[in-house]
Amino acid sequence: MALDPPTMLTISIALAAAAALYLAIEWRSVREPPLLFWSAGFATIAVGSTLALLRGIGLLLIGIWFANGLLVVAHGLFLVGVLRFTQVRLSPRWLLLVPLWFALLLLPVGPQWSNVMLMANSLLVALLTLKASLLLRPHGRSLSVGAVQLRYVLLVHGLFYLAKAIIAITPGTLIDLATFGGLIIQVSLVEGTMAIMLIALSMTGTVRYRREERIARLAARDPLTALYNRRALEVRAGHFFKGVSPAQPGALLLIDIDNFKLVNDLHGHVAGDRLLVALAEMIRTLLPERSLAARLGGDEFVILLWGSSSERVLELGGLLREQFQQFAGNTAPTPQPVTLSIGVNLFDQPPASLAALIEQGDVALYQSKRSGRDSIRFVKRPLADLG
Ligand code: GH3
Ligand code: MG
Repeated sequence: MALDPPTMLTISIALAAAAALYLAIEWRSVREPPLLFWSAGFATIAVGSTLALLRGIGLLLIGIWFANGLLVVAHGLFLVGVLRFTQVRLSPRWLLLVPLWFALLLLPVGPQWSNVMLMANSLLVALLTLKASLLLRPHGRSLSVGAVQLRYVLLVHGLFYLAKAIIAITPGTLIDLATFGGLIIQVSLVEGTMAIMLIALSMTGTVRYRREERIARLAARDPLTALYNRRALEVRAGHFFKGVSPAQPGALLLIDIDNFKLVNDLHGHVAGDRLLVALAEMIRTLLPERSLAARLGGDEFVILLWGSSSERVLELGGLLREQFQQFAGNTAPTPQPVTLSIGVNLFDQPPASLAALIEQGDVALYQSKRSGRDSIRFVKRPLADLG
């Protein structure tokens, strides 16, 4: 089958309709708004290409610029989808593009004006697409793999339309939009089919990757305090332990709130929750770089301190105990003070496992509990035994 314009248009219609359907089905399962805008964009392309095809084979006498206008609208919808994805707001000045496009319809009829019209349309598509690509630049945090892919696909597509705009007004360029004549139109039709596939696939990937990242992030966190949970700490501890040496020793601090049940009993579960969140916040604020913190469950927390010494542990633990006792005393007074017991395990070589470190830390923590609570206790073992 020859790649004549009607065939290419038919392929584009089928691909755009399939992309619209695919993105709509994806939206039904994940309910991410960008997918809906992108699906609408492809549906618009399918409609525009159908109108262009019908006109091309003489079945419909609708103005060719209507179909081209729909192409601009479709790219506008792509941009809106990217805006929803990146949660960026665009200046209302972008809406001026709408009257600008209608103003173009007032241009006189004639071959040279047709080229100017094509240039203007291509420029609009390029502008919307390149803006969408620019919005997908990493802002602070790195972008997901899918978003990077969409960014480059849109960049290449936008640059193609920019080139098309320049070629359109280059003297001697043959363009006959009515019959789809001229090399530039033919190349554009081929580029269109490829762009539909690549853009649609990247769009689904973009949302799916971000969703997976979000789910993984949520699965790693304790829902109440947003600190890591035990499983997430275990995953990260392996890397942490690798860097431990006599020159860079580590410390594990096992923290348990003293008399916490009293807060729940006397002030309610919500007050207890508030105290747990406050302690997590204090830990987060005091946590040095490269150190890790997690909530193991209940009123038990753990800190893995990087490059530590007993003096630093005493300093940090002391600060934490002081701040927490003061906060608990002010917000939820109890007959017995609500304080912190901390068991500390120092190590200067990678330990066998996090569980082993915690088990030893637990012994020190228990000593604090047994000897009246509100204290820091160190594991009394030669450091070399911990490996
Ligand atoms: P101890 O001084 O020996 O540590 O006693 P404690 O009163 O602090 O109680 P313990 O550590 O043995 O038990 C922790 C309690 O924390 C048990 C449970 O009622 C409460 N708890 C566990 N998870 C939560 C939670 O998510 N929110 C609240 N408010 N309470 C919790
Ligand atoms: Mg406790």
